[in-house]
Amino acid sequence: MKPAPFAYAKARSLDDAIRLMGEHKGEAKLLAGGQSLIATLNMRLSSPSLLVDINGVAVLDGISVNDGVVEIGALTRHVTLERSSDIAKHAPLIALAMPHIAHPAIRNRGTIGGSIAYADPAAELPACLVALDAEIDMTGPKGKRSVKAGDFFKGLFETALGPHDVLSAIRLPAATADTRVGFAELARRHGDYALVGLAATAKANGKALSDVRLCYFGVGETPVRARKAEEALAAGSVDEAVKALDLDPGDDIQATGAVKKHLAGVLLRRVAKQLAEPRA
Ligand SMILES: Cc1cc2nc3c(=O)[nH]c(=O)nc-3n(C[C@H](O)[C@H](O)[C@H](O)COP(=O)(O)OP(=O)(O)OC[C@H]3O[C@@H](n4cnc5c(N)ncnc54)[C@H](O)[C@@H]3O)c2cc1C
Repeated sequence: MKPAPFAYAKARSLDDAIRLMGEHKGEAKLLAGGQSLIATLNMRLSSPSLLVDINGVAVLDGISVNDGVVEIGALTRHVTLERSSDIAKHAPLIALAMPHIAHPAIRNRGTIGGSIAYADPAAELPACLVALDAEIDMTGPKGKRSVKAGDFFKGLFETALGPHDVLSAIRLPAATADTRVGFAELARRHGDYALVGLAATAKANGKALSDVRLCYFGVGETPVRARKAEEALAAGSVDEAVKALDLDPGDDIQATGAVKKHLAGVLLRRVAKQLAEPRA
């Protein structure tokens, strides 16, 4: 199929992008990597009257690490995150997740902002950001505001972004010596969206773990934290954590809810092993 007709504008700056979005009153869509958007246009699941291309807005691109905070511009491509030594060192959970996201051709164009704004419930990065307790910056006609990743994902493909907002950056705490991270997913083929996945962070406290955050993807409409399992894992028992898994996934075209719940336990055991070991 071909997309419905649309106009195209290349934003010259962040302000320009926000102005163009405002002028088209909810009829415009931002174009970042285009890896999800163009497919939805071609299938006519979306028919905006205008595409606002933000690819030339340099202020949205790049990675910086300052005062214990990693800031990632929304336009930073998956491939840049995958290859960044700063991400490997200061945001190791993101580094672990990157190779699981689609295929190299898609990672060459796809952006972190596009992935977060699109909010596919089976996507890796939204769950990583919730596990990392990241903050998401949005800039709109009234200026900039930030929300915690845990409050950003509102429902199926629904986020806290307003119709004229640009997701501008993501900020997360840089890893410290006691940071532990874990990531695992099960997909039918490597690079496919996951049937079920798990992104996790914790603090090492001697041999024990504290501040455990287990965030699943592919098991609900948004990333889902398994809070009872977090408590059980912090109390030291992987078996109890698996028993305590407070998830209620529904059936989908990939698997039944019961299978997903079983796989969530399998992933928890894998990730618990990663959390138990110091980072290399
Ligand atoms: C075959 C295939 C397999 C894939 N597999 C996976 C996978 O396994 N895991 C995974 O996570 N993803 C997967 N993807 C999706 C891929 O990661 C996309 O790149 C990503 O979801 C969207 O990023 P994008 O930059 O391409 O955004 P676009 O496609 O350009 O935009 C997506 C949506 O976000 C909006 N948007 C984009 N940037 C912003 C912004 N800065 N502020 C506000 N709104 C914005 C757009 O308006 C649009 O609605 C796959 C894609 C394909 C085609």
